[in-house]
Amino acid sequence: MKVAAYASHAPEDTMNPFEIERRAPGTNDVSIRITHCGVCHSDIHQAHNDWHNTRYPVVPGHEIVGIVEAVGADVTRFAVGDRVGVGCLVDACTACPACYDGDEMYCERGSVGTYNGKDAHLGGHTFGGYSQRVVVRDHFVLKIPTNLDPAGAAPLLCAGITSWSPLKHWNIGKGDKVAVVGLGGLGHMGIKFAVALGAEVTMVTTSANKGEDAQRLGAHHVLLSTDRDAMKAHTGAFDFILNTIPVKHDMMPYLRVLKRNGTMVIVGAIEPIELHIGGLISGRKRLAASAIGGIAETQEMLDFCGEHNIVSDYEMTSIQDINQAWTRVQSGDVKYRFVIDIASLDA
Ligand code: NAP
Ligand code: ZN
Repeated sequence: MKVAAYASHAPEDTMNPFEIERRAPGTNDVSIRITHCGVCHSDIHQAHNDWHNTRYPVVPGHEIVGIVEAVGADVTRFAVGDRVGVGCLVDACTACPACYDGDEMYCERGSVGTYNGKDAHLGGHTFGGYSQRVVVRDHFVLKIPTNLDPAGAAPLLCAGITSWSPLKHWNIGKGDKVAVVGLGGLGHMGIKFAVALGAEVTMVTTSANKGEDAQRLGAHHVLLSTDRDAMKAHTGAFDFILNTIPVKHDMMPYLRVLKRNGTMVIVGAIEPIELHIGGLISGRKRLAASAIGGIAETQEMLDFCGEHNIVSDYEMTSIQDINQAWTRVQSGDVKYRFVIDIASLDA
C-alpha cells in the first residue's frame, strides 16, 4: 500500500513530501493509521547523519500514536479501533537472553529500529512515523491508556521510556536525590517520572529562563550549570544523574556533583568523549548509559502514566512546518516536545 510521508534524502537536505510502501499485514501484524508523531532530537541527528549510519531516504518518527485499522488472523491483543502506540522498535528475535529478559532493544541478533532499521519484509530499510500508516508486528505495539490525551502520549514512546527505564533500573524512589540534566523532551519527562517515583529532584539546566518551568513540571530545585559557584556548592549532592545533553560535553562538572557511590546515566550524546578517570575513582562513582527501554517496560510506563495522568508537554505542528520545528528543537526552543498532527499529511 502506498502511503504519504516526509523524508530527507541527504545530510544537508530539508524534509520534503515523499511516498513510501507499507506491507500488507501478515498474520501477526497490526496495521495502524497514524494520528500523532512526536519529534525526537534523534530524528534530526539521524536525518543529518550525525551518527554516520543513516540510510537515505530517511523517514523519521518513533513516537507514534494511532488507531488500529486492521489486524492479522493471529493477533489477539488488539482490535480494529484501538488506540495504540509504536516506539523505537518494530522487531527483534524475541528469543535471545536479552529479549527473554524484556530488553528487546539489546537483542543479541539485532533489534529493528522503527526507522533506519533493516526491513526484513520489503527489503531496504524501515520508515518511521512521519507518515500516514505503519504496519507492525503485534509484540511491538503498545496499548495507550484511554484517559490519556493521544498527542501528549506520543512522546512517551521514546522520550518517556528513555527517561523511565534508567530510573527504574537504578531503583530510584523516595529518599534519592536525583538531578536531571537538560530540560528538553527527555529531561522534562525525567522530572515528571522522578518526582512521581518519590525522589527529590533537581533540574540542572544551561537556561536560566527555564527555572520556573522546571518547578511547574515538579522539580524541587533548579541548578544553573553555567553558575560555577552554584555547581561548587552542590559538590557530592546527588545519588543519581540522568544526563540528556544531546552533544559532546565535559562530564567532569557533572561527575563532581555526584555523591560517593552515585551513578550518572547518559541517555543523550552518542559521541566519543574524553574522560578523566579521576572523576570516577574518587568516590567510587559510576558512569553508565542506557537506550530506550523494552516492550513490557514501555507498557508498564504507559500504564503508570494512565494511573497518574502523566503526558508530555507539547506544541502541535503540521508536517508542512516540520523544518521550522526542527530548527527550534536544535536551539532548545520547544516546550517540551513537538508533536506532528499527522492528519496534515492528508492536506
Ligand atoms: P532536546 O529536546 O533537544 O533537549 C536537550 C536539552 O539538552 C536542551 O533542551 C538543553 O536543555 C540541553 N542542552 C542542549 N545543548 C546543550 C549543551 N551544548 N550543553 C548542555 N546542555 C545542552 O533533546 P531530546 O529529544 O530530549 O534528546 C536528548 C538527547 O537524547 C538527544 O541526543 C537524543 O538523540 C538522545 N536520545 C537518546 C535516546 C536513548 O535511547 N538513549 C532516546 C531518545 C533520545 P537546557 O536548556 O535545560 O540546558
Ligand atoms: Zn527518540
